[in-house]
Amino acid sequence: MRYRRVVAKFGTSLLTAGSKRLDLESMSRLVGQVVRLRALGAEVVVVSSGAQAAGRHRLGNRIPAGASPSRQAIASVGQSHLMQSWDELFDWHDTVVAQVLLTRRDLSDRLGYLNARNTLRDLIEAGAVPIVNENDAVALDEVLATRIGENDSLGAYVANLVDADLLVMLTDVDGLYDSDPARNPAAKLLRRVDRIDAEVEAIAGGARGAGTGGMTTKLTAARIAVQAGVDVVIANGREPGILVAIAEGESKGTYFPAAGDRIESRKRWILGNISRAGHIVVDQGAAAALRERGRSLLPAGVAGVAGTFDRGETVEIHDPAGRRVAAGTTNYGSDELARIRGLHSERITETLGYSYGDEAVHRDNLVLL
Ligand code: GLU
Repeated sequence: MRYRRVVAKFGTSLLTAGSKRLDLESMSRLVGQVVRLRALGAEVVVVSSGAQAAGRHRLGNRIPAGASPSRQAIASVGQSHLMQSWDELFDWHDTVVAQVLLTRRDLSDRLGYLNARNTLRDLIEAGAVPIVNENDAVALDEVLATRIGENDSLGAYVANLVDADLLVMLTDVDGLYDSDPARNPAAKLLRRVDRIDAEVEAIAGGARGAGTGGMTTKLTAARIAVQAGVDVVIANGREPGILVAIAEGESKGTYFPAAGDRIESRKRWILGNISRAGHIVVDQGAAAALRERGRSLLPAGVAGVAGTFDRGETVEIHDPAGRRVAAGTTNYGSDELARIRGLHSERITETLGYSYGDEAVHRDNLVLL
């Protein structure tokens, strides 16, 4: 077995086989593969979508006239049905499953992150298969950054959280093509992508189908994961035995090799916890100092802040052209940074009345993007 710890993300279209309800036959084929993988010595964490679809189907025409249940309510109905299905299917193989529902908050606050990490580790050690989904019942809004909104990124965060060495995103297409295969019959499957750059991103289409993840979110997720030192494969989950084949190192779908060595835990945490609530903009000189000389970001190099964030949040750092330079855990909130931007660090105390240190973002808490 080439991989030791695998996160397998199953998308809605795969779990429903393109229908409007959970397709137990498809699910049971996936279960068979997870069980086989474990028998071959790998540890497996499942990230499962399908709660919305299951909930919508279950409620069906039982919804009282005039009522329109929220996405949260629908997902709550569906999540229990989804877990019941997984539980029964795995039970045929004497395999114990555990439901783990996460929110963005659990992943973006240091304590929540550590708790989730410990629980997942415990479950793996106890021999259970954790089945993770976003806690849609309480995850409200991407704009307020309380919700992740799609399970591709959740899969990448989970891979990061459990120190996986492989993230497999199984969907109902063969992988990433060089153009839209639905429109261009000559479209070619990309077997291997070494760098997820603007060109590759431009190839990816928008969201489609029953799930919320299209290729765009898969690429975002792949980028998060490869940067955290995790190999990623996007492949067609309908192909029999594909999960096992991938974990054994066979070339299937589109492969994104991990970028360099696994980075240490703190850096992984940073990449897994970037807040969407705002970001820091730095000047050209600071961007170069970060990129080329591995420096800390000082207030003197901060040109501006966008959005609102608190001290201790992890935010992206952009250059004046809006390109992502780095992500880091900030020592100052957005209001504070707005007041000390452009200033020498020795003027922090006189400006704010206190100081959390000379750096806006310390290099130890920073990862280049
Ligand atoms: N959490 C959603 C669900 O279970 C899935 C989100 C997605 O489709 O990526 O229905």
